[in-house]
Amino acid sequence: MLLPVTEGCSHNACRFCSMYHGVKFRILSDEEISAWLEEIREAYGYFSEKIRRVYLVGADPFAISAKRLEKIIALTKNFLPNIEVVTMYAAVRNIMSKTDANLIRLRDLGVNDLYVGVECGLDDVLKFLNKGNTVADIRAQCGRLNDFGIRHMDMLMLGTAGKGRGVECGIASAQLVNELKPDTILINTMTAFPETKLADDVKSGKFVPAGEKEILTEEKIFLENLDLPETYFWAAHAMDSVRIAGVIGESREKMLQTLQHAIDTIDEEHFAKTFRREHI
Ligand code: SF4
Repeated sequence: MLLPVTEGCSHNACRFCSMYHGVKFRILSDEEISAWLEEIREAYGYFSEKIRRVYLVGADPFAISAKRLEKIIALTKNFLPNIEVVTMYAAVRNIMSKTDANLIRLRDLGVNDLYVGVECGLDDVLKFLNKGNTVADIRAQCGRLNDFGIRHMDMLMLGTAGKGRGVECGIASAQLVNELKPDTILINTMTAFPETKLADDVKSGKFVPAGEKEILTEEKIFLENLDLPETYFWAAHAMDSVRIAGVIGESREKMLQTLQHAIDTIDEEHFAKTFRREHI
């Protein structure tokens, strides 16, 4: 069940993102959140008692202080008493802003399955993307989640290093993610959406995007180098040209074959004309 708690993004500066341009970050008031909860309870009726998971939405819910999140969770449980898991996006900088005691308290209240935007395992690329954190920060903060038994799903983005660096990026990202030990890996492919700094960089030639073969090769190298047999690998986002998914230990070979087939057979020119990510 999706529950809006924030509007906009407190960072609002990633080079590839135009999602919240012009939207001022704010946390919804208790009254606004209660109104949403009331609406949800009415819409679900009897079934609202069966809701076990709530997904806090808005770009940046983990930017909310631990104290306020506690209050929001308590409010949610007033309306939906059987909630077990409270999940949301959690930027690395927002995990960093929580003390160990905060994380433990939030975990005990049901906060789990956090979505973390890792994107890439190369520091210079993270800097270029303006993510606001380093590889060491990611390692440290996901390590804290692991220490406190908070599961996380790590989001990786293909093509972030640009033309000619796909293999390097695939290997570095796999090395990092092996240390992070996520429950699930979610793959997306970077897109130069209009009105982003990235689109300007592509236009000016400052950033040269990788072709599709290179993007798929990066994904293949990444998947080959993962040492996480229990982890679920999901690469079926609308931005991913080849949609694959499965538990790594069970489905890796099949997924690699699918990627290799695409690499061997893709007609880059035809693909570029027919799969326009920025229009999806
Ligand atoms: S990618 Fe996420 S963190 Fe970055 S600006 Fe967009 S919404 Fe904010």
